[in-house]
Amino acid sequence: MNKIEVKTPIVEIDGDEMTRVMWQMVKDQLLLPYLKMNLAYYDLQLKKRDETNDKITLEAAEAIKKFGVGVKCATITPNKDRVKEYNLKQEWSSPNGTIRAALDGTVFRAPILVNNILPSVRTWKKPIHIGRHAYGDVYKNCEYRVPEAGKAEMVFTSSAGQELWRGTIQDFKGPGIIQGIHNTDKSISSFAKACFTYAYDQKINLWFGAKDTISKTYDAQFKKIFEQEYVANWKTKFTEAGLEYFFTLIDDAVARIMKTDGGLLWACKNYDGDVMSDMLGSAYGSLAMMTSVLVSPQGYYEFEASHGTVQKHYYNYLKGEKTSSNSMALIFAWTGCLRKRGELDQTPEVVEFAKKLEESALETVESGIMTGDLMLVATPDPKNKKVSTEDFIAEVAKRLQDKLK
Ligand code: NAP
Ligand code: MG
Repeated sequence: MNKIEVKTPIVEIDGDEMTRVMWQMVKDQLLLPYLKMNLAYYDLQLKKRDETNDKITLEAAEAIKKFGVGVKCATITPNKDRVKEYNLKQEWSSPNGTIRAALDGTVFRAPILVNNILPSVRTWKKPIHIGRHAYGDVYKNCEYRVPEAGKAEMVFTSSAGQELWRGTIQDFKGPGIIQGIHNTDKSISSFAKACFTYAYDQKINLWFGAKDTISKTYDAQFKKIFEQEYVANWKTKFTEAGLEYFFTLIDDAVARIMKTDGGLLWACKNYDGDVMSDMLGSAYGSLAMMTSVLVSPQGYYEFEASHGTVQKHYYNYLKGEKTSSNSMALIFAWTGCLRKRGELDQTPEVVEFAKKLEESALETVESGIMTGDLMLVATPDPKNKKVSTEDFIAEVAKRLQDKLK
């Protein structure tokens, strides 16, 4: 069989632990036998980041800017234990954070649906995609424990040194707490652009919820920027494609989401997205059944799995024990990347390959062959069978081979 050619190089970002092991298996058995790819390879395993003083992470981000589309394996974000374990020079920051900052991107997540794992919410038939604004608010706050009675004020001084504004937060009669948070028009605008781009790409409606009735300046600014972006760049496109942009209060969005059948992008402010993405992940079944993609306002894409490096399974693997780790999200990171590459390159055969690989993976799980994590959440059936990490990928490979005949 002739291999399918992928025109433009793909930025491949390798990672750590069990996901690194699965990454290689997926490449060897599901991709390289069928695809002629030119891979711009960046090895972000922790040792390499340490050796290069984390320069490799920035280089990987630059490569995505150059080629447009990348795919990333999960990587360790080091803490004190990891510094000791890997004898690191320092506690390097999260590679995902570094790449996100370099690309000014927004992370979108969506569940991978199969007919034998039912969402906890009965009405959800299609994926609910979630887009989390990943800058500012409470994640970049300034807070203080008020020890005694006194006045808390907020002051803004311009860079020219002029006090432009002063407001009272509270006249405290006794101990309490205060917190200052911020965001920037630039970041909110990038977030809005990424959300409209993603929704339009996926041909799904966009919902955005905030609390502008209570927060008449802060949340109202989010609403205003989204509206401006919509009117300036998307209204015509959305209307032509039969799509809708819908703003509502965040509590109303939460209530309504429970009654929809899914199939929409839910744009969330930072904290809402943090909380709601965990709720959606759990309601749809498993972290290993979630796709994740970083989209930059310039239209760069980085596909990844939403779970971590599955450390515990890796230690068992190193001891020579059989593992049952789920490679679905990694497979879908590759198919997402290949589909996007194929669309941009206008190579329908690459898009078709991605589709067949996804079908093979979904059909494997739907036939009852699954890893341990899914056995716990799948509809009970005598045909359900827990398989090892290797056997799961081999089963997908078998189905893929049949489809490509
Ligand atoms: P994790 O790797 O997501 O794993 C947490 C638990 O979830 C696992 O122990 C396992 O449960 C289950 N799980 C996750 N993915 C699975 C899969 N593919 N198949 C089967 N089970 C799966 O999170 P963590 O243990 O908190 O973090 C490990 C490392 O990953 C950390 O060093 C962290 O920095 C890094 N991390 C990286 C990323 C990223 O690069 N995208 C994201 C998050 C965390 P059982 O043990 O019960 O089987
Ligand atoms: Mg969270």
